[in-house]
Parts: sequence; structure tokens; C-alpha cells
Amino acid sequence: MIDGETQLYGIIGNPVRHSLSPVIHSNAFKRMGLNAVYLAFEVKDLKEAIDGMRGLGIRGVSVTMPFKNRIIPFLDKVEDPAGKIKAVNTLLNEGGKLIGYNTDWRGALEALEEMVNLKGKRVVLLGAGGAARAIGFALRTRDCGVIVSNRTIHKGAGLANELMCVHQPPSSIESLKADVIINATAAGMHPYDEENPLPKKALKQGMTVMDIVYWPLRTKLLREAEERGCRTIDGLEMLARQGAAQLEIWTGKRPGLLEIKNDVRRALHRK
Ligand code: NAP
Repeated sequence: MIDGETQLYGIIGNPVRHSLSPVIHSNAFKRMGLNAVYLAFEVKDLKEAIDGMRGLGIRGVSVTMPFKNRIIPFLDKVEDPAGKIKAVNTLLNEGGKLIGYNTDWRGALEALEEMVNLKGKRVVLLGAGGAARAIGFALRTRDCGVIVSNRTIHKGAGLANELMCVHQPPSSIESLKADVIINATAAGMHPYDEENPLPKKALKQGMTVMDIVYWPLRTKLLREAEERGCRTIDGLEMLARQGAAQLEIWTGKRPGLLEIKNDVRRALHRK
């Protein structure tokens, strides 16, 4: 029931109507017995949105494209590693002070480490956008070799430089003998379901292949990886964990992952 004590949370982005975050957070709040609502805000003017968050005492906000980087100068504090990643996907309003966090890195790392011990592994990270940056900095905290590979070479080389690792063009992935391949590009995301960031022959038996695209969940990359005998991790694993980490920042409580995953699966079926 909404009453005078109900706390307001939301997501800011543009576009934002497709976001699964309202489904994740609204259902989790209900299950956690919290008096809170979560709404999607399609934002045109970021400064006005931030002023509104402070002025109205909105308690927490998820941040999505195109604001993850642009929001940083408006904040009172940015918690590591969001500063290094240069991307904030979570805001906490602590008595009018806005604190920025990044939970994508943690969501990706937890999803990956459920499946594979990264120590000594050779990991190919496809992409150089916001999500790839978060995953790249997460991988840097582990004892593994990272190779960045991006369609636009200068962007990939720039990220590799920041991560102090190498960049290889996507055409050379096949020869790299990777243990783990992570797709952090938008290739394969609806409506480009048949796009693939890699040729099937680059996938070898025994590899772990993680795709962070979550719409569809069984991307072409993951279907081909299964056919080639790879272990696969779909985008829901990271999505659910980064959302759970946001809820933990806002409420101090960790919600159940299984329930979040079921909510997202149901929402994807309805799309
Ligand atoms: P972004 O900042 O716009 O970066 C997009 C990246 O994808 C760039 O590296 C871009 O390469 C590459 N790319 C786009 N289309 C491509 C194609 N057809 N072939 C090869 N590379 C292509 O986006 P982002 O925020 O990093 O998000 C990337 C994907 O991750 C999206 O699908 C998003 O939904 C997903 N994501 C999932 C989660 C999760 O929790 N599961 C979290 C965040 C993001 P160029 O540099 O060459 O343009």
C-alpha cells in the first residue's frame, strides 16, 4: 500500500521504457516487504533530473544509457571502482548527498566466477563500451590475462591501454587460444538477433562463453557456443546480480537471485 512513508526509487535513461529494472526492483521490494515504489523516468535534461532527485528526496536511482558517464560531475561522491570505470549505474541519496556506484562490474564478476576460476586464465573481452569497461576493470582485480577486442579498433586499443593489456582485432580471436570469451558488445541484441560478434569457428570445446546481452537470453553466440561444446553463461546472470547489488546498496539487504531471474524471464516472455 502506498502511504506517506513510501520511498521512491527509479531509473533514469533515454530511452528507458524497454528497461527491465522496474520489474526487477518493484517485485523485489514487494518480496522484501519494503514500503517503496520504483518508476522509469525518461530524462531529457540530466541536471533537472538530478535537481529533482535531491529536491524530492528520491532515495535511489538506477542510471542507464546515455547517462552513466555524464552523471559523474553532478554527484557529491563516487565510490570506487565507478570512478576508474568512469561509469555510474546506481545512485544513493544520503540526506541530500548523491553517491554514485557501479554494480555492473560486480554483477559480471560474480556471474563469471560462479562458473569458472579465473586464476591464470586467458580472457577475451569483446567490446569497449560502458559494460566492457566495467567488466575490464573487474577482470583487472583477478589474476588472469585479458585481451580486449573491439570492432572500432581505436576504442578497443584505448580501453586496452587503460587496462594495461593488449588489444586484438576481432578477426584474430580464433588464434588466441582463449579460455573465456565475454561478449560485452550489443551484437545479438534484439532486434539484431542474428548478429554474432564472432564466427562460430572461433568457439572451441571447453571454453567458457559469457554473453551479457539479455534480450534474447539464448543469443546466437550462446547457441553456437553450446553446439561447439562450450560452457555458457547468459546475460540474465549478470543482470540479476547487478540489480541485487543495487538493492543491497539502497536497503542494506540482499534479495533472492532466483526470484529476480524468474521475474525477468516472465517479463522477457511478455516482450
Ligand atoms: P555501449 O556503451 O553503447 O557499447 C556498445 C559496444 O558494442 C561497443 O563496443 C560497440 O563497438 C559494440 N557493438 C555494437 N554493435 C556491434 C556489432 N554489431 N558488432 C560488434 N560490436 C558491436 O553499450 P553498453 O552499455 O556497453 O552495452 C553493451 C551490451 O551489453 C548491450 O546489449 C546491453 O544491453 C548489454 N548490457 C547487459 C548488462 C547485463 O547486466 N546483462 C549490463 C549492461 C549492458 P564499437 O565501439 O565498434 O561501436
